[in-house]
Amino acid sequence: MKKFKYIKPKTIEEALGYLDENADEKKVIAGGTDLMVKLKNNKIDPDLIIDVSEIESLKGIYRKDGFIVIGAATTLTEIAESPLLKEYCPILPQAAASVGAAQIRNRGTIGGNVANASPSADTVPALVALGAEATLMSREQERKIALEEMYVGPGKTLIRPNELLTSLSFPEPKGSWGGVFFKLGKRKAQAISIVNGAVRITVDDSRNRLKDVHIAFGAVAPTVLRIREAEGSLMDREISCENIKKAAEIVKNKISPITDVRATAEYRREVSGNLFIQAMCDSLGQLGISISVQC
Ligand SMILES: Cc1cc2nc3c(=O)[nH]c(=O)nc-3n(C[C@H](O)[C@H](O)[C@H](O)COP(=O)(O)OP(=O)(O)OC[C@H]3O[C@@H](n4cnc5c(N)ncnc54)[C@H](O)[C@@H]3O)c2cc1C
Repeated sequence: MKKFKYIKPKTIEEALGYLDENADEKKVIAGGTDLMVKLKNNKIDPDLIIDVSEIESLKGIYRKDGFIVIGAATTLTEIAESPLLKEYCPILPQAAASVGAAQIRNRGTIGGNVANASPSADTVPALVALGAEATLMSREQERKIALEEMYVGPGKTLIRPNELLTSLSFPEPKGSWGGVFFKLGKRKAQAISIVNGAVRITVDDSRNRLKDVHIAFGAVAPTVLRIREAEGSLMDREISCENIKKAAEIVKNKISPITDVRATAEYRREVSGNLFIQAMCDSLGQLGISISVQC
C-alpha cells in the first residue's frame, strides 16, 4: 500500500475544500467498514483520504418542512434505534438493523452504505421505497438527486469527485401505510443479501384498492431497482390474490439476477417473487387487511 495523506476536517466547508484540491485520487471515509477493506485489498490507491466522521453537521435525524432528513454520517445503529424513524418509517430502521453485526452498525454510516453503491446495500431499497433523495454538495453548488436515479452500475454513482453526500431525505409518510423490508441471507448476521427489498403501500378509503405502491429490490440487478411496472399493475386496482400474483410475475421479469457464490440466478428470480408476495400480504396485514396468497 502506498503512503497517502489523511485529514479529518471538522466542517463540511473544510471537507469540500479538500475535495476540490488537486490530489490525483481522493477518497472520503466515514465509518471505513467498506473503504478499509478495499484499501487493504489494494482495490483503491488514494493519495488523500478525507475522514468525515467528526463533522457534526453531517449527523442526526430530524423533521424539516415535511421531510425526514438523515445526515450522511449518521451511524446505522443510530438509524436502527431512532424513535422518530421507528414511528414514521419502520422499514428504514429494519433495514439498518439487518446490516452486518453490532460492531459494523456502530461504525458504518448510512452515507457510506448509499455511496458505496453495492447492489446488495441493505438500506438502499428501503430508502428508494420511501422516495428518498440524496443531497450532494460541492464548493460551487448543492444539488438533490433521486436515489433511484443516482446509481449507474455496481459501485458506480453520479456523485462527482468534488461532491460530498451530505444527507438523505424523504417526504414524511402521511396517512396510514404499510410496509416491509425483507432480506434473504445465508445467516442471520454478517450476511450479504442474496435478495433484499422493500414494499410500501397505502390503500384508498374503501380499503379495497391500493392507492400507492412503492417496490424496490436489491441484489438482483447491477443497481437497486424500483420496479415501477409492478407498482403500476397494482395501483388503483382491487386488492386481490390475482393482482398480487400478476405483480410478482412482473417483478420476476424485470429483475436481472446473476449466479454467484451466494445463489443462482434462477433461485434469486424465483425467491424474489415469493418474497414480494409475502411482503405485500404482511404490508396489507399491518393495515388490518387479511389476504393470503399461495406462492
Ligand atoms: C463484516 C462486514 C459485514 C457487512 N455487512 C453488511 C450488510 O449486511 N449489509 C450491507 O448493506 N452492508 C454490509 N457491509 C458493508 C458496510 O458495512 C456498509 O456498506 C456501511 O454502511 C458502509 O458505511 P461506512 O460509513 O463504513 O462507509 P465507508 O467505508 O467509510 O465508505 C464507503 C464508500 O462510501 C464513500 N462515502 C462515505 N461517506 C461518504 C459521503 N458522505 N459522501 C461521499 N462519499 C462517501 C466512501 O468514499 C466509500 O467509497 C458489511 C461490511 C463488513 C466489513
